[in-house]
Formats: sequence, structure tokens, C-alpha cells
Amino acid sequence: MSRVQCPICDTPMPASPVEYPDYPFCTKRCRVIDLGRWLREDYKVASREEASEDRSTPTSADEE
Ligand SMILES: [Zn+2]
Repeated sequence: MSRVQCPICDTPMPASPVEYPDYPFCTKRCRVIDLGRWLREDYKVASREEASEDRSTPTSADEE
């Protein structure tokens, strides 16, 4: 494992994280993009759970 690629834009990066404050991303921009993906995923999962919960709770969900 001597070569690392930026997970966002696939830019080959030297295996020396010291020079890259945003390692393993090549730039801050790529790090922000990754963070945005994470947040969106979180939001999606959360809202989906909320929706399904709302659906399976009509008035008396005690029977199941
Ligand atoms: Zn990148």
C-alpha cells in the first residue's frame, strides 16, 4: 500500500499524509464533497425511517 488515491476525484497521492492536511483527500474541496455525501446519506436514512415509522403507526400498532 504505497499509493493512495483521493476517494473523490481519484487523484493519485503520495503516501505522505503529513503534507496533506485534508488527507486522504487531495484538497479541502474534495473533503467537503465527501462530507456532504455523508450528511446527505444520514439525512436520507433518517427521513426514510421517520416516514416508514409514521406509516406503520396508524392508531393501534399494538397488535403486531
Ligand atoms: Zn480529490
